[in-house]
Amino acid sequence: MLSCAMVKLTNTLTGTAEPFTPADGKTVRMYTCGPTVHDFAHIGNFRTFVFEDVLRRHLKSKWQLLHVMNITDIDDKIMRKAADKGVDIREYTAPYTAAFFEDSASLRIEKPDVVTAATDYIPEMVTLVQRLLDTGHAYREGNSIYFRISSFTAYGRLSRLDRRELKVGARIDADEYEKEQPNDFVLWKGPKDETEKKWDAPFGTGRPGWHLECSAMAMKYLGETLDIHCGGVDNIFPHHENEIAQSEAVTSKPFSRFWLHAEHLLVENEKMAKSKGNFFTLRDLLAKGYTASAIRYLLLSVQYRKQLNFTMAGLEQAQRSLDRIKEFLFRLRTAKLAPGATPELTDAVVSARKQFEAGLDDDLNTAQALAAVFDLVRACNIALDKEQLREEDRAAVLDWFREVDSRLAIIPSDEESVGKDDEVEALVAARNTARRNRDFAASDRIRQELLDRGIVIEDTREGTKWRRK
Ligand SMILES: [Zn+2]
Repeated sequence: MLSCAMVKLTNTLTGTAEPFTPADGKTVRMYTCGPTVHDFAHIGNFRTFVFEDVLRRHLKSKWQLLHVMNITDIDDKIMRKAADKGVDIREYTAPYTAAFFEDSASLRIEKPDVVTAATDYIPEMVTLVQRLLDTGHAYREGNSIYFRISSFTAYGRLSRLDRRELKVGARIDADEYEKEQPNDFVLWKGPKDETEKKWDAPFGTGRPGWHLECSAMAMKYLGETLDIHCGGVDNIFPHHENEIAQSEAVTSKPFSRFWLHAEHLLVENEKMAKSKGNFFTLRDLLAKGYTASAIRYLLLSVQYRKQLNFTMAGLEQAQRSLDRIKEFLFRLRTAKLAPGATPELTDAVVSARKQFEAGLDDDLNTAQALAAVFDLVRACNIALDKEQLREEDRAAVLDWFREVDSRLAIIPSDEESVGKDDEVEALVAARNTARRNRDFAASDRIRQELLDRGIVIEDTREGTKWRRK
């Protein structure tokens, strides 16, 4: 572990960048709102999950981390779609949950330490509702239980709602919320009809409201006060506001010390919408031939608090940036170098490390961190041109790139860029013979054959080198 320079994170509760350390000085207890598994996740969702992954990796470089994420497998859409298909909700959601983790793995998003599906934590939610009823923060209306906002004076603090805007006593029981209507919200919904999936509770059969699951599962694993709670900006109201209300009403303790929110993602300068044809899941983009690594790169290239305009041109640019890193690493790994080190390069690596670390410490400024990577690539390429880069410099640069990869997960692996393959070696040798014989037609044909196999060749002063695309 590195010694801790100051990490600053913007806390939505205060609207300012505050120094962060875990409450116990050792382990960061973090909760992130997970996917609602009624469909494939879209790239707007993945912007938030990639941000949380970068945060996760950065925190792990300084402290221990306990990261919990929920899977929302109970909500109106899921109940409706499962009923339409005539299957149980677990049966309906299982493929989407699996797809979410497959997509996450493609994007090199690490799995949280604990993943909790709402359907597995009904008893914890029932207990929380009962405590809210017992303390007068909840009431029954019809066959549902609602949270009484007027009983919780801090309501609206996270989203900065003026209390005058609150429609106290008006109730909302849908999961598909009208965003601007802060009404008493449902904690436990009585069944609409006989066929709806329901669970038993002392206060009547029904099913939990969406907000309830995060409070119940977060407190189960992370205690009554978390270090960090994350989500997208559209979670601030009503979801996170309601999580705070139902948690703090029973514990009288702050539910989370820090709240972090990723800004919206636009696609081609517009809000993503199926009707506009700019709505993409990860699978849609992979099918168009874009790579998961370019998608991850683009998603993390803009700091999480800034709006990100996701464009196809941006994706192509991201791919070129990754190719630059790949080409550089290929050149660096295969260059014949003199022993020793060049002091200017030793300094360049130290300053790149510092700039990278300072960028991430400063509210996860990923743009600054990436700039540090490309500054070093540029310096090393110049040094390679001048034959000033030495063996020890190479080792130091490669060592740091491994560190960069452990934080940002964007560096192509060794196997991807340098290969050993007898068949390829034979083709490269055949092409060199053709070139020596000035048989350029044959040489071009072999180059194309290699390309078709995904092999790129480069003729350098030290001979012909090849790598996988
Ligand atoms: Zn949540």
